[in-house]
Amino acid sequence: MATTSLDLAKVRNIGIMAHIDAGKTTTTERILFYTGVSYKIGEVHEGAATMDWMEQEQERGITITSAATTCHWPLDDVDHTINIIDTPGHVDFTVEVERSLRVLDGAVTVFDGVAGVEPQSETVWRQADRYGVPRICFVNKLDRTGAEFHRCVDMIVDRLGAVPLVMQLPIGAEADFKGVVDLVQMKALVWSAEASKGEMYDVVDIPDTHAEAAEEWRGKLLETVAEHDEEMMEMYLEGQEPTQEQLMAAIRRATIASTHTENEGQPTFTPVFCGTAFKNKGVQPLLDAVVRYLPSPLDVEAIEGTDVKDQEKVIQRKPSEDEPFAGLAFKIMSDPHLGKLTYVRVYSGRMETGTSVLNSVKGKKERIGKIYRMHANKREEISGVGAGDIVAVMGLKQTTTGETLCDEKSPVILESMDFPAPVIEVA
Ligand code: GDP
Repeated sequence: MATTSLDLAKVRNIGIMAHIDAGKTTTTERILFYTGVSYKIGEVHEGAATMDWMEQEQERGITITSAATTCHWPLDDVDHTINIIDTPGHVDFTVEVERSLRVLDGAVTVFDGVAGVEPQSETVWRQADRYGVPRICFVNKLDRTGAEFHRCVDMIVDRLGAVPLVMQLPIGAEADFKGVVDLVQMKALVWSAEASKGEMYDVVDIPDTHAEAAEEWRGKLLETVAEHDEEMMEMYLEGQEPTQEQLMAAIRRATIASTHTENEGQPTFTPVFCGTAFKNKGVQPLLDAVVRYLPSPLDVEAIEGTDVKDQEKVIQRKPSEDEPFAGLAFKIMSDPHLGKLTYVRVYSGRMETGTSVLNSVKGKKERIGKIYRMHANKREEISGVGAGDIVAVMGLKQTTTGETLCDEKSPVILESMDFPAPVIEVA
């Protein structure tokens, strides 16, 4: 049985947030589809099986039932683990939504390309601001009549007060939506006719019709990045053109830094992508962007908790397996086959099957039963899990959501007792 020590730099714990009907479910399904198609375990290519499963599920209308689903995405031939944490509901300003925001490190906000920024997009945006969650945006449904990418970008400024970084320009519109200009690579990504079968897009030269707009928006992109990143500003002032790697690194830094506490009150800097989840156009570049621009658990330097006896005393836990174990139970679900499953984000140390840990809130010992990594179409039993990861645990008898599990010898409480009470929104 696998015991996993993940390379944390290659892990992304993300949520997908949206106003109802913007396409959160469809985008998530497409992500699971593409990651399933491309994921290889050892020599065995699992693609075909996953695809069959997705096709079957799609006929019945697939629903994602897990509170956290693990998938894999190769970027530049390097495998990355993406844990998608379900951010429940679209509307409620509830503890549950806030708790899920707490356990994720980054998010994708999906907008409807016709409706743009809708009221619930504003609500989730503000919640994510409150929890300092770095975000990228996906303007979806560009195939729909009346969809307008740039109007949505303007609304991100006007309604959300954010700094959108336009990363792509659509080529063609509505039924004629053919691809995007990638302003970092300065290439056109043209959706392949094979896209629905899991093929990637074709990378070609920017068509003449879009050359001028591409130059104009590339200029804006460089300027905006420079305004939010010192290294880029120096190069900008010296008239140096950044390499692709330098530019991507700067965008990543700016995206992560803009939600840091030291930048509180400053507008959120957010790279914006576009496409249509429905027709499989744009989801693969979005996955690349998740890996490229959203933080890994290592970017979250330390989580703060409190002493068990003294709520005033702050204790920090770093995302390292050398630290004492600390994790947060963020969701309890009933699995039709396994029964009660407790979803845990491990912040520090390791959690192993068969060991005893402390529920520091209740002051009770718990035995860790089987540990599972939940995939879209299967679950994988693992014997242990390290800092930065998210798994489901069987056998916890006393633990409820929001409670901390930790090393008995180094107790800590991760979620304060005065965690915000639910605020019910009045429509
Ligand atoms: P959610 O409520 O945000 O999870 O939205 P869904 O993913 O359930 O999508 C709402 C509706 O929009 C469904 O009927 C989808 O089939 C449809 N939809 C989602 N993405 C797209 C898209 O890119 N283009 C079009 N035309 N329809 C879409």
